[in-house]
Amino acid sequence: MSKESIKAILAELPEGIQLVAAAKTRTADEIMEAINSGVKIIGENYVKEAEKAYNSIGKAAKWHFIGHLQSNKVKIAARIFDMIETVDSVELATEIDKRCGQIGKVMPVLIEINSGREEQKAGVLPENTEKLVRELAGLKNIKVMGLMTMGPRFGESEDSRPYFVATKEIFKRIKNLDIPNIEMNCLSMGMTNSYKIAIEEGANIVRIGTLLFGERNYQEK
Ligand SMILES: *Cc1c(COP(=O)(O)O)cnc(C)c1O
Repeated sequence: MSKESIKAILAELPEGIQLVAAAKTRTADEIMEAINSGVKIIGENYVKEAEKAYNSIGKAAKWHFIGHLQSNKVKIAARIFDMIETVDSVELATEIDKRCGQIGKVMPVLIEINSGREEQKAGVLPENTEKLVRELAGLKNIKVMGLMTMGPRFGESEDSRPYFVATKEIFKRIKNLDIPNIEMNCLSMGMTNSYKIAIEEGANIVRIGTLLFGERNYQEK
């Protein structure tokens, strides 16, 4: 992908929408090129891969974790990331809280919603979201900033819309509860084939990989 096309994509995003460049499988050089084209946030799915990229790029961008976080990787993740978008259990949140406490950091997190109720997917079920948020409100070294969802993978972007609408509904409802220590400002939804729909439905963070970097040459898990 050329610098010019990355700049064009950034220029087309409405004001107030943050772009996370989803960088799984990309080299540090590719990531650096995106940063030089104006990308401010890098999204990583794997801690090992992120650590490698982070070691050469460091604070030239913000780092968001957008994959499934295993508890034995939380210690490294706590150090590298500026936000963890995929918290879906008290256990994971407690581990992040503990590791961030040890390094004197408060980690902004999003709660991942399994909006498609897919058995193989991570995320909390919609009806359990409020309970989880309330349970995390007391943790001193994490700060819940909002919600994230993937939704089922479709060929047609329009098919994603109901899942984004449903996630936005949960977002609004929880925001209106005004739970102490919970800030509902971030709604992360939409990928290459669905980000325009996601923005229409209220996303203010979109996570885009393929459109920025080109096709990935491996089949995803
Ligand atoms: C890979 C990935 C993306 C980006 O997907 P594209 O279709 O390449 O834009 C967004 N979010 C998550 C969680 C991902 O794993």
